[in-house]
Amino acid sequence: MLSGCRRALPAALRLAVRGWAGGGGRRRVSTSWSPVGAAFDAKQQRSRLTGQSTGLFGVPELSSPEGFQEAQEKALQETEQLVQKACTTPPGPQIVMIFDQLSDALCRVADLADFVKIAHPDFAFREAAEETCRNIGTMVEKLNTNIELCQSLKQLLADKEVMDSLDPETRQVAELFMFDFEISGIHLDEEKRKRAVDLNVKILDLCNQFLIGAHLPNKIDKQILPEHIRYNFAVEGNYIQITGLHADCSDDLVREAAYKIFLYPNAEQLRCLEELLTSRNHLAQLVGYNTFAHRALQGTMARTPEKVMQFLETLSDRLFQRTLKDFEMMEGMKMKLNPQNSKLMPWDHPYYSGVLRAERYNIEPSLYCPFFSLGACMEGLNFLFNQLLGISLYAEQTEKGELWCEDVRKLAVVHENEGLLGYIYCDFYQRADKPHQDCHFTIRGGRLRKDGEYQLPVVVLMLSLPHSTKNSPTLLTPGMMENLFHEMGHAMHSMLGRTRYQHVTGTRCPTDFAEVPSILMEYFASDYRVVNQFARHFQTGQVFYAVLDQLYHGEHPLKRSTTEILKETQEKFYGLPYVPKTAWQLRFSHLVGYGAKYYSYLMSRAIASMVWKQCFVQNPFDRAMGERYRREMLAHGGGKEPMLMVQGMLQKSPSVEDFVDALVSDLDQDFETFFMDSE
Ligand SMILES: [Zn+2]
Repeated sequence: MLSGCRRALPAALRLAVRGWAGGGGRRRVSTSWSPVGAAFDAKQQRSRLTGQSTGLFGVPELSSPEGFQEAQEKALQETEQLVQKACTTPPGPQIVMIFDQLSDALCRVADLADFVKIAHPDFAFREAAEETCRNIGTMVEKLNTNIELCQSLKQLLADKEVMDSLDPETRQVAELFMFDFEISGIHLDEEKRKRAVDLNVKILDLCNQFLIGAHLPNKIDKQILPEHIRYNFAVEGNYIQITGLHADCSDDLVREAAYKIFLYPNAEQLRCLEELLTSRNHLAQLVGYNTFAHRALQGTMARTPEKVMQFLETLSDRLFQRTLKDFEMMEGMKMKLNPQNSKLMPWDHPYYSGVLRAERYNIEPSLYCPFFSLGACMEGLNFLFNQLLGISLYAEQTEKGELWCEDVRKLAVVHENEGLLGYIYCDFYQRADKPHQDCHFTIRGGRLRKDGEYQLPVVVLMLSLPHSTKNSPTLLTPGMMENLFHEMGHAMHSMLGRTRYQHVTGTRCPTDFAEVPSILMEYFASDYRVVNQFARHFQTGQVFYAVLDQLYHGEHPLKRSTTEILKETQEKFYGLPYVPKTAWQLRFSHLVGYGAKYYSYLMSRAIASMVWKQCFVQNPFDRAMGERYRREMLAHGGGKEPMLMVQGMLQKSPSVEDFVDALVSDLDQDFETFFMDSE
């Protein structure tokens, strides 16, 4: 039988906690640095409270909301000078450098504003940041269609002799900048270029509209719902508001009602989706691609929609029997509880898969209880990075005005020989108005400056953890801990991406590679049994969603309506019947941000799984592997083709079948390791 807590503490943390209790001996490098674990379990960040305010993130202009205007003007002025310079410099590596400075001048302000506009507790700051984002965004659109600027880059790319003399990263970055011009339609005549810009603006508007519509509740006359289930929903006069699927509710009828009402098609939202897909297709064709998916997948690991579909179909085939068996068991369970109506329906699946999982693994509630202190988790991470990469995390004292909220902690990331690598601001705690979404933000990208100094990367990690109480520090459930490790994986990617150009810093790499370092950290966070519970998420839903995303962004005009395509795909790739008069796709908000790349998470997970099993499962603290991981995968950001990075790490070139094997074997792992470890 399980002994709950002991098993729930992963090896990495067990060692770390022991090391921590045993006390220090760690080299202190700066007087403003202190141990990371203690800093998180303590009440407050150590911060200087006196003297002059330094401004947010140490940017002097940002001591007040008005400062955004000033920072933005400075950036736009610098941009103008750099554009001039780019247009008058002869072909050579200098051009790429200037382009990167240009990109840095704009991103430095826009990225910071992107974070502040959603996370600052003060509305005035959020509003000022929003305005800055819009203005810089407009400038970027203009630059991407600036013919003179593009010409200087084109001359460089056309000069074979000069190009051959450049290092691979510089070549790659030059090509990536060119790619930005191309997908913006730079090569078109003036009229078509204008159409491309108009289409881009239209798509942005449609995206916003679709996102809003995807989350709007549906209203229904309250008389229509049986009285005994009404209390589950918000009542507004004579109406009942349905705001979501209530997928975890144990009452079958509540789930059924929520599913049918929340997914009832809304004509306007349907029009919006169709127009969005058509406009994306027009834009792609206008700038020279077959479909929007072809345009979106350029530069990714998968490269083409055909390869993505091959991956998804192979995965789906391999999962088919397993899924069928699971559905049968869920149906059996439903039959036991509700003999009159035992057919498994889409609204049953999330709920009964939870029931099934709990029964199969005999999960004790204690496993889901908060257990790890945040400080212990941070020490665990510190220990892991120390062993693997020779890197330590320290809590750094902050300056007055540097933080947007006093419970934010600032970490210095320090290598044993190379010294300070960068900063991670940890905005981990819940507060009013803060979005409930775990996220990594690049605030400043790393790059080699003209004076030979390296511009250190700065990132923010945002989580929504509960505050500590009078009696206890913040305690994390295994799920929260997994999220923390995931986001720290992104942060370390940013810290260790030692690229020359910030255009390809850390996480600025193709979408289907971007999740590899973070998902790999989940493997470190969890023992197998826990990993498997999360791994099971992809088993059914994920593949179906990813296929739908491909079909919608594939060949146009679509052969059938979006709802008919949903119906077919659901039956084929999900295995549960389509429910008439529903339109789940209208709630599929990821279509906006991921357009044709929803499969990315699955592909990243496959790679992370291969890396874990081949390189780390035997010894998660293997320094030689850690160094290889840094050298081959983390160091390059987006400056190297992702497949080459994977090859460097695995020392072979994985096929689609290898990806699928890795994902499927994660699922097969469960019983063996479960029994092995739980004696
Ligand atoms: Zn992620």
